[in-house]
Amino acid sequence: MLPGEVNLPRKIFSSDGQVVNRLFTVLCKASDSALAQGFAEIVKDVQERWFGNRSLPIRCPNCGGSHVIGKGWRSRVLRTSRGRIELFVRQVRCKGCQRTFRPFNQALGLATSRRFLDEFIDKAIMLGIRVPFAYSARVMKELTCGTISAEGVRQQIAKKAHSISFSEQIAGETVLVDSTKVKAGKKQRGATVNLAVTAKQGPQRNGRSSIVKKLIHLNVGSTAALKHRLRTVKAQRVVHDGGENYSLCASHVQRCRWHLVHQLKHYLWQDGISLKQRGYYQKELQKILWQSEQRPEKTKSALRAFINNLESCGLRHSAGHLKTAEPETLTFQTVKGFTFSTTSPLEREVRELNRRADVGARWSEKGIENVLKILFHSRLNQNSQTQLGHA
Ligand SMILES: [Zn+2]
Repeated sequence: MLPGEVNLPRKIFSSDGQVVNRLFTVLCKASDSALAQGFAEIVKDVQERWFGNRSLPIRCPNCGGSHVIGKGWRSRVLRTSRGRIELFVRQVRCKGCQRTFRPFNQALGLATSRRFLDEFIDKAIMLGIRVPFAYSARVMKELTCGTISAEGVRQQIAKKAHSISFSEQIAGETVLVDSTKVKAGKKQRGATVNLAVTAKQGPQRNGRSSIVKKLIHLNVGSTAALKHRLRTVKAQRVVHDGGENYSLCASHVQRCRWHLVHQLKHYLWQDGISLKQRGYYQKELQKILWQSEQRPEKTKSALRAFINNLESCGLRHSAGHLKTAEPETLTFQTVKGFTFSTTSPLEREVRELNRRADVGARWSEKGIENVLKILFHSRLNQNSQTQLGHA
């Protein structure tokens, strides 16, 4: 096609080297208006058929009468990522009581409250759970032909979060729990996000092992809700990092092995041990906890001896730390089926969590809970896709 041969605006061809760009813009506009027109026509046509060939009578919502006549069309504007689209819904009038109503709203999915198509809302939500609402609204405006306000994004996220429920089918799974602070609520220190995820090894991907994770609980506030959840889903194996007592929430509880070693450092410091010496003790504990080939009784006695040694050296805090954790330290060795004995697979999720939560502003507890719920639901539950990671 050359200039003059087609019936297109002159400005498309007036700038050298920009023809394809300009052409694309013009054709997009043309196809969008064709889309809007076609959409409206089909929606109208469907209703005509329903109305004309109805096998069941249309009942008046007011008097229950079934003698109705057509009473024109009512316009409805929907916002979509291809722009505002005007659709028409059939109106009918009851001959009995003169009430006018629109019988197909429900069947069409055009409830009076609907102002957006789902595809548009889904895009806005996918943005809103990752970047600030105001920025999401701006990106929507830039990248689609529709608009939504920042407050609109927030409302849609709240609505969506409300409709999400997590799987209860976790029999035999290993549940990893973790809590982390976010800047939310009225307290200066912020509020706690509590997370519970099942984790198991997934298939090898490019020579690296993957981890399949499923979110089973998320709440912002007290850990009571998380504990209650673990009890109601009858969690069998739980791994935690020691911040809370989970002994009554599952049949078998394991303290995160990595955290046990890491936390020891702090207690050694409390006991007045020098930095260099702390490393020595940590290595010793690590050796005991990570000797997987050893028989359970042998590991148990090695741990006992290590604690006794700390005690006899007067390291009260360090010994106390391990003593408290002792009943939950080697569960993974005696109870079969622990897929993980650390909470490491959760770390990646917590990083993602902080990335969205740390935006400088203070959240409401419900606000951040809504965002995180959808974020992790879409990250972990919606696709069977597995994430790369290491145990
Ligand atoms: Zn009526």
